[in-house]
Amino acid sequence: MQPDLGARIIEKAKELGATMAGIANIELLRNSPSHRIIKMKTGLEIEDFPGIKWPEDSKSALVIAVSHPEDKPELDWWDTNSSPGNSILIKINKELSIWLQEEFGIKTYKMPYSIERGGIYLKDTAVLAGLGCIGKNNLLITPELGSKVRLRGMLLSADLTPTGPIDYDPCEGCEMFCRKVCPQNAFLERVLFSSEIGLDKLPGRDGSFSRQKCMVQMYVDMERSNINFNQGVQYISDTEEMADTKNLVKYCRQCELSCPVGKM
Ligand code: SF4
Ligand code: SF4
Repeated sequence: MQPDLGARIIEKAKELGATMAGIANIELLRNSPSHRIIKMKTGLEIEDFPGIKWPEDSKSALVIAVSHPEDKPELDWWDTNSSPGNSILIKINKELSIWLQEEFGIKTYKMPYSIERGGIYLKDTAVLAGLGCIGKNNLLITPELGSKVRLRGMLLSADLTPTGPIDYDPCEGCEMFCRKVCPQNAFLERVLFSSEIGLDKLPGRDGSFSRQKCMVQMYVDMERSNINFNQGVQYISDTEEMADTKNLVKYCRQCELSCPVGKM
């Protein structure tokens, strides 16, 4: 373990534009709630998915977060490949990776965003790295910015001291604005139970987050754009409001933006 090196890496990530950064223990990440749920559903470790292998010399996970304020929604407007916010994260990760290799000879493995393509569960990584906790909106909640952050991660060949998790829970006693505002009622009923899957940490904290219902909203949001998502269908947006940005997808953020944590 190299405690000072971890602090220097986090400092460098911030110099390059990250709002927050942290380091997670890779063994804990391997056994994090999301990884265990996917293992239970598929029988496979995420790193053993076909065509995917976490590099054997990976010893730590580094996660970076960039602020995504409410008044800059365009950071999260997606075309078929990326969004401006995602491009910022990729650029920081790339520069950090080069710096780690050149300065310290540390090998880095920049992870794709998508789990299906071998990415790491970024929210789990962020919790283990001490950036915040999983809230009742099933999102990462950071003390400073609430859920209004975007994440990216990489695995490192260096064994670094983890920077988390932290003892933090803003949801206790909250009115749960996040759950009341969901247009698809994705938090209406429990869909996972601890007794069934042998885990005390569940999606949405109590197992009441329905990914399927949230995905219904994602498809609604995609249909509102003018993008052909290889479905053989050209979706046409018809409102004036969307005319200038009709080729972008504006995904729902209501459970994120309704949360009072991190509001200025
Ligand atoms: S609104 Fe925020 S603080 Fe309140 S329950 Fe939801 S995630 Fe937790
Ligand atoms: S992103 Fe929108 S649809 Fe999905 S859970 Fe949050 S509020 Fe509901």
